Amino acid sequence: MSNFVKNFVVAVFALVLVALLFSFFFTPVEEPTQLTLGEVAQKINSQQVEKIVVNGNNLEIGLKDGTQAEAKKEFEVGITETLRNYGVDQMALQQVSLEIQEESGSRFWLGLILPSLLPLLLLIGFFWFLFRGAKGGQNQVMNFGKSNLKMSATGGKEKTTFKDVAGMAEIKQELVEVVDFLKNPKKFTDIGAKIPRGVLLMGAPGSGKTLLARAIAGESGVPFFYMSASEFVEMFVGVGASRIRDAFNTAKKHSPSILFIDEIDAVGRQRGAGVGGGHDEREQTLNQILVEMDGFDRENRVIVLAATNRPDILDSALLRPGRFDRRVFIDLPDIDEREAILEIHARNKPLEKGVELRRVAVRTPGFSGADLENLLNEAAIFAARHNRKTVSQTDVFQSIEKVLLGPERKTRIISEKEKKITAYHEAGHALVAASLKDADPVHKISIISRGRAGGYTMKLPIEENRLKTKNQFLAELATMMGGYAAEQIIFNELTTGASNDIKEATNLSRSMVTKYGMSEKLGPVTYADGENVFLGREMNHDRHYSETIAADIDHEVSNFLHKSYQLAKKVITSRKKALDAIANKLIEEETLEQEEFNAVIKPFDLKPLPVS
Ligand code: ADP
Ligand code: MG
Ligand code: ZN
Repeated sequence: MSNFVKNFVVAVFALVLVALLFSFFFTPVEEPTQLTLGEVAQKINSQQVEKIVVNGNNLEIGLKDGTQAEAKKEFEVGITETLRNYGVDQMALQQVSLEIQEESGSRFWLGLILPSLLPLLLLIGFFWFLFRGAKGGQNQVMNFGKSNLKMSATGGKEKTTFKDVAGMAEIKQELVEVVDFLKNPKKFTDIGAKIPRGVLLMGAPGSGKTLLARAIAGESGVPFFYMSASEFVEMFVGVGASRIRDAFNTAKKHSPSILFIDEIDAVGRQRGAGVGGGHDEREQTLNQILVEMDGFDRENRVIVLAATNRPDILDSALLRPGRFDRRVFIDLPDIDEREAILEIHARNKPLEKGVELRRVAVRTPGFSGADLENLLNEAAIFAARHNRKTVSQTDVFQSIEKVLLGPERKTRIISEKEKKITAYHEAGHALVAASLKDADPVHKISIISRGRAGGYTMKLPIEENRLKTKNQFLAELATMMGGYAAEQIIFNELTTGASNDIKEATNLSRSMVTKYGMSEKLGPVTYADGENVFLGREMNHDRHYSETIAADIDHEVSNFLHKSYQLAKKVITSRKKALDAIANKLIEEETLEQEEFNAVIKPFDLKPLPVS
């Protein structure tokens, strides 16, 4: 497309140039007066004419007063005859010097042809540009069947190794084993073990799948071919399949080797469930992958490595033994891994002395490796913008919030009243969190708006736990309700500021009832709709329960919400003095760190309350 635009611009430019030249050559500097033949005859008779130059049908008339005039005579009639017909006196005509010029050939032809030729030329030029573009396209068509296979240099300076990948100890171990299969197959085949054909890396976006694959390339010392499955999906049916064939052939030729297919979900999606019928091209491409993987014999030491963040939508045929039978799940990093990832990405960023990356890791649960990298980058940008040479702890902290919630909007002017409401709202969250036994401790409160949030309270678990108890959920619900309850109690009215809290609380409550079996009435049954409602699998998922159950679910969901609201209200009314203290401090300071917050509530000696 950009090529077309370029050609178009060139064409327009050429047009303008031609027009300029044209006007330059064909506009005479000074237009002589036009005379009719009658006037000429009259001027000759009154002896005003000095000379006449005849050039084809044009008459250039030089008058005695020194001015010039022009006239046209009839076609193919001699000048003297014409003039005589107009009644020019014979004597008078003899006084005029007549000069008959050979018509200037080139000028004649140019004047005659150019006006009709120019559009033609433009047209030809236009088609030439079109044709050129089409020819380029044709070349692309010729290349369609070829895979854009990239072979990674196994040596080189910028080689990625396992050292660049933090954490994932077990995963690395597993992959080292796979590479070992490639290098020393005899060891394994001698005792009858089959070499695995495919390894599927699964994990959230940004969890380091592509990075890990690159590291394997660096570590293995065998040729490594890289391609992204989204490249297969082209306009023309059959192209993907032939690219796959090409890629596998290339990999086989270089065996032992590794073929890495990134984002395999782009083609490996469950077949026969696409919207509006199957996607033929994708299905053919997938079939080709299956065929190629089956076609490997033992002699072909090629391992197919694939990565996806949607393992749930992959076609089951891809996952059966003999294909991607090894599956590696990459989790989001835990606290130690986060610290290690931060260390890796802090290597080329000068940190101020005393920056503790551990404290950053503590505050970033749920961040992926890519998020952490982005976080440090934001911190460095922030430091640079303030003309500092090193990155400070505050830079890093504030970019956590920036990555989470968007940039601070300090310039947003809020009224005193709005500020007060926001302060009480956030204080409500914080107080409930600090008062309940099972709630996470408060790390930071702020009433500076960020992104779409008016203010925020950051609570983080002491230790990262994969299992959560019902009491923890209840405490979380009550904390979410804390803002709403505080507004209600202090101002006796409600604002729209709590809408997001209510939405999240409702979602959590619904999960507790339908997913975790935490409702006493409904018991240990899951009523959750498929979590991965995605076009690849199901368009309209049916509800597998009756209307009565649906009503019960709604009832239980609102039950949890009401109970937690009552709890939040109870906490706030009984500890209103503490709430005032927190809110006032917030109005004053706008942001409270964990230590400051703890100092504010210390005098009130808040005893932890049970949730139920
Ligand atoms: P994806 O899983 O989506 O393929 P990538 O492998 O592209 O994610 O990871 C994105 C970036 O995040 C990497 O370039 C890397 O800088 C960073 N990253 C992710 N995980 C790690 C890790 N374990 N160690 C170091 N950096 C990581
Ligand atoms: Mg990737
Ligand atoms: Zn809130």
